[in-house]
Amino acid sequence: MNNPFKYSRDNKRYHTLAYHNKSLGIKSHKASIDAGLSCPNIDGTVSKGGCIFCDGSGGYFTDKTLSIKEQLDKEIERIRKKVSDAKITAYFQSNTNTYCSLTKLQSMIDVCLEDERVSFISLGTRPDCIDDEKLKLLKKASELKPITLELGLQTSNDNTALIINRGYKYETFKNAALKIKEQGIRLCVHLITGLPGETADDMVNTARDVALIKPDAVKIHLMHVIKGTALHKMYEDGLYTPLSFYEYIDAAVRMLEVLPAETVIERITGDGDKNKLIAPLWSRDKIRVLGSIDKLMAERNTYQSRLYLQDSEKECIIE
Ligand code: SF4
Repeated sequence: MNNPFKYSRDNKRYHTLAYHNKSLGIKSHKASIDAGLSCPNIDGTVSKGGCIFCDGSGGYFTDKTLSIKEQLDKEIERIRKKVSDAKITAYFQSNTNTYCSLTKLQSMIDVCLEDERVSFISLGTRPDCIDDEKLKLLKKASELKPITLELGLQTSNDNTALIINRGYKYETFKNAALKIKEQGIRLCVHLITGLPGETADDMVNTARDVALIKPDAVKIHLMHVIKGTALHKMYEDGLYTPLSFYEYIDAAVRMLEVLPAETVIERITGDGDKNKLIAPLWSRDKIRVLGSIDKLMAERNTYQSRLYLQDSEKECIIE
């Protein structure tokens, strides 16, 4: 069967990161950096304890006792042992990487700007930790090296946000996301399928809301129960049931259908620490998950953005 999706050179019916990188001639690998910052949802500023699925560990290779420069050296050595000509994205992954003073943020960025081995910069953060001053700083830096801001939205449903203790409303996300786009900074939005109490329709609604913002990239995660988290306790108490394999595949395909074709899907499986994963254990088989998404999309003769156009006319403004 012919693949009707335009941003693909194979059987993928969604805009993969591999396709995107190849189109731009990029071979970029992420060097995980821990800047030693906290999160307002953990330290009591917004809430204590954090999101119910979060164990606050961030990247797997990071060592926050080292300076940012030392972490970069270590990570680049690890990456280039495998791919000698890899371009490097400095990825500030742990906790909230704009939850700091302007001076600290500038110093984090400066290390990356000064290091010739670093081609791209990516910062994971929360929408309530981005203000105009920080955006101005990041915009200026992004004129020297491309910067991506990664916002962990997870869901646009404010009731679910309360259950997962996210600590901000959808409107806060929407306004921050639109401002990031307005500044020309690359935006990647993280979504989670299988949050407590959510149906497949809720997950598709979140994707529809996000589609109106036209993010440059989206990461679709599967809700993992990670050892020691509040969600782990809910799971043990019988208060949370993870998605089944087929529920996940179906939800992921339906979410892809409503996202814009240009939005790069940077991730579509869970990628947690396997040693801490409690459930669902089927998620360990990433090849089966990815293959089943391709198969279901072909069976339904669908593709990313097939149901997007009908919504794209709606206006999305900062409120
Ligand atoms: S915002 Fe991020 S770092 Fe903070 S508690 Fe939630 S998941 Fe963890």
